[in-house]
Amino acid sequence: MSILVYSENNELHYQLLGKARELADKHGKDVASVVTGDCNSQMLINYGADKVYHFTSSALNEFNVETHMQVLTIAVSEFKPETILIGATKRGKELAPRLAANLDAGCMTECNKVWVDEENRLLVERLTYGGSTIATETCDSKPTVITAPNRAFEKLDPTERSGEVIDFSFDISEPKVKVVEKRQKSVSDADLENAAVIISAGRGFKAQEDLKLLDELAEILGAKIGCTRPISADLGWMDEWVGISGKKVKPSLYVACGISGTIQHVAGIRDSQIIVSINNDENANIHGMSDYSLIGDIYEVVPALVKALKERA
Ligand code: FAD
Repeated sequence: MSILVYSENNELHYQLLGKARELADKHGKDVASVVTGDCNSQMLINYGADKVYHFTSSALNEFNVETHMQVLTIAVSEFKPETILIGATKRGKELAPRLAANLDAGCMTECNKVWVDEENRLLVERLTYGGSTIATETCDSKPTVITAPNRAFEKLDPTERSGEVIDFSFDISEPKVKVVEKRQKSVSDADLENAAVIISAGRGFKAQEDLKLLDELAEILGAKIGCTRPISADLGWMDEWVGISGKKVKPSLYVACGISGTIQHVAGIRDSQIIVSINNDENANIHGMSDYSLIGDIYEVVPALVKALKERA
C-alpha cells in the first residue's frame, strides 16, 4: 500500500506519517510526503517518509486551494499512490474532495481509524449522524483519498532514517480565485485540542461573569476552559466551543459544568479518558456518558470542589 501524505500542519503531518508507516510496513510499500516552501524534509523522513516531494514556488508561500491542488496532482502522478492521506484541517478539508474529484477517486473524510482487513480492503471508521453512529467504510477506487483529524493517529518517535528528497521548482498557473483582503481573526489561546485537562461551561451558567467560577478550578487542575456552542456561537462569551462543529478534544480529564450532553457536544468529547459531569438534572444525558456524575448546582458544587481540592493540596 503506497501512501502519499500531506498536511500543512507539521504535527498532524507527523501523525499521518505514523499511520502511513504502519500500513506500508505491513504491506511492504512506500510512504511519500508532499511539502511546500520552507520545510525540514529530513524531519519528515525521520518520522516515517521514504520520499519527500518538496515544491517551491512564490505562488506557494500562501495556501491557495487551486495551487496546492496542482502540487498534489503532480505528486500523485509521480508517486502513483494507492492511498492519499490528508490532514483534516480547514485547508485539508477544502483540498481533499477537490483532489478526489480531479483524480476521479473516492474520498472518505474525518476518519479516526484506518486499517487493511484480511481481504486486503482498506477500511476506515468515521462518525456519522452527528456522532451518534460509527460507520465502517471502504472504497473501491484507486487511489483513495482519506482525511484524518488531529490526534486520530500517533506520531512515531523520530529516528535517523535515510530517504529521498525530490525538489520541484516550477511555474504554477495563476489561481482563478484571488484574495482581495485579509483580516486578523481573534485567536484563542485555549488550544483545546491539545489540552490534557478541560473544564467546559454550558448553559447552566446564567451570566458571562459567572464563568469566573471556573478560573480557580482550572488553575488548580491545570485545565483549559472550553464551552458548548450556545455559550460561544450564540452568546459570544467565549471564542471556541467543543463538539462536532467545534473542537474535538481528547483530554485525560473533561469536566462538563452545566452541560446537558446533546449528541453534537458529546461527539467532540467521546475520546476523553475520564468525564466528570456537574448538572442539577439527574436525567441529563451527560450523566449517561460520564465516569463521575455530580448531581447538583454548579454555583455550589464548583466552589465546593475548589475548597476540597485546596484542602487536599
Ligand atoms: P442546554 O442543552 O440548555 O443544557 C444546559 C444544562 O445545564 C441542562 O442540562 C441543565 O440541567 C443544566 N443546568 C442548568 N442550570 C444548572 C445549574 N445551576 N447547575 C447545574 N446544571 C445546570 N453544541 C455543542 O456544544 N457543540 C457543537 O459542536 C454543536 N454543534 C452543533 C451543530 C449543529 C448543526 C446544531 C444544530 C447544533 C449544534 N450544537 C452544538 C448545539 C447543541 O444541539 C446543543 O444546543 C448544545 O450543545 C446545548 O448546550 P448546553 O448543554 O450548554 O445547553
